[in-house]
Amino acid sequence: RYDVLIVGAGHAGAQAAIALRQRGFEGTIALLGDEASLPYERPPLSKEYLAGDKPFERILLRPASFWSDRLITLLPGCAVVAVDPAAHRVTTATGGAIGYGTLIWATGGVPRRLSCMPPALTGVHSVRTRADVDRMIAEMPTVDRVVVIGGGYIGLEAAAVLTKLGKQVTVLEAQDRVLSRVTGEALSRFYEAEHRAHGVEIRTGVAVAGVEDAAGAVSGVRLGDGEVLACQMVIVGIGIVPAVAPLLAAGAACVGADSGGGVRVDDRCRTTLPDVFAIGDCAAHANAFAGGRVIRLESVQNANDQATIVAKLLTGTSEAYHAVPWFWSNQYDLKLQTVGLLSGYDHAVVRGDPDSRSFSVVYLKEGRVIALDCVNRVRDYVQGRALVAGSVAVAPALLADLSIDLKTLGG
Ligand code: FAD
Repeated sequence: RYDVLIVGAGHAGAQAAIALRQRGFEGTIALLGDEASLPYERPPLSKEYLAGDKPFERILLRPASFWSDRLITLLPGCAVVAVDPAAHRVTTATGGAIGYGTLIWATGGVPRRLSCMPPALTGVHSVRTRADVDRMIAEMPTVDRVVVIGGGYIGLEAAAVLTKLGKQVTVLEAQDRVLSRVTGEALSRFYEAEHRAHGVEIRTGVAVAGVEDAAGAVSGVRLGDGEVLACQMVIVGIGIVPAVAPLLAAGAACVGADSGGGVRVDDRCRTTLPDVFAIGDCAAHANAFAGGRVIRLESVQNANDQATIVAKLLTGTSEAYHAVPWFWSNQYDLKLQTVGLLSGYDHAVVRGDPDSRSFSVVYLKEGRVIALDCVNRVRDYVQGRALVAGSVAVAPALLADLSIDLKTLGG
């Protein structure tokens, strides 16, 4: 039995353990995860790690000694399959039982699969874990052509890296523009143009019907109209399904798949089960920056900040989760930084010239700033946070004027 048992040793779980010790928590802590490695950063998987620019040791969240020095018990390679909230006990895939005082569920999600794809075919990949990327890297020498299914951040980041590695890359997007779920039209078009300029073929509005299989390995992607795109590697980046089945089976309230799934938590990250919290990608919470809608956020920011909220509560400081969302994406030499959530915006102001490859887009709702996307414009990102945090009303003409620093516009 552990005083705090954390299930999922990713960003949220690791940060929960770190924050508990930072705040002087003296009870026993176990950090259990189904991956074999020490806890590591996930964002480099589609960036520097895939590119071979950073070895695995450099993406570890902390060195091995950190965990032992702080008496945090790591239980790698171990999956929880059931939770008994009455007995305060979990069951692992190998049949073991582990008791807890408090359970922190931080399991993230598993990549969504395309129903038209066979469950396992050599050459078909998702990018979620180190093992996924290691498999891709191992195949790389025999790959010339890659098809990326899904024009979201992860798919586009992978496309940028693979192009730089000399592969011929095609990105297939079902919607009429890339990044349609996460950003506005101007940014989507900018990234489409950038990728095309780097030699990536971007196809929007296409349906995938299946894959071609040659002797157990992928040899092509079949589109809805029958066309086949020959390739030796397919990357499927179409989002995740939150890994919450054991919690739901235990009776925790959840939200429907149409709302992104996930386990429902309150503003302290409490689930509806006693002494069970959920944090990170799997936690569906009412977010003030989404107008109070219940959403899941898939970002390091959210994972770390929710972990800290729980650590605070367990060490005597009860605080509601109210962090400004932020995110980043690196593609080629473009550093995108976003702050706020743009869903529901009614006006977008482009600040600077996209052709200069340094510009921002400011999103407004009813005249108030709700989000910014900043491409190679750290200054706007840093200064724009206050506008989002304060939901400040600003005239679009002022936002568009590059001679005016955002910090002078209130907030
Ligand atoms: P995870 O980090 O996914 O950790 C969950 C862990 O729990 C995993 O190790 C999982 O295997 C394990 N697990 C699941 N089920 C069980 C179980 N039943 N028992 C035991 N263990 C289990 N965010 C950004 O802000 N910026 C970026 O640039 C960015 N880039 C990204 C690039 C990639 C390729 C990916 C995959 C994600 C990226 N993200 C980025 C998102 C960010 O990494 C996630 O939001 C973050 O990792 C969420 O943390 P988490 O702890 O909730 O989940």
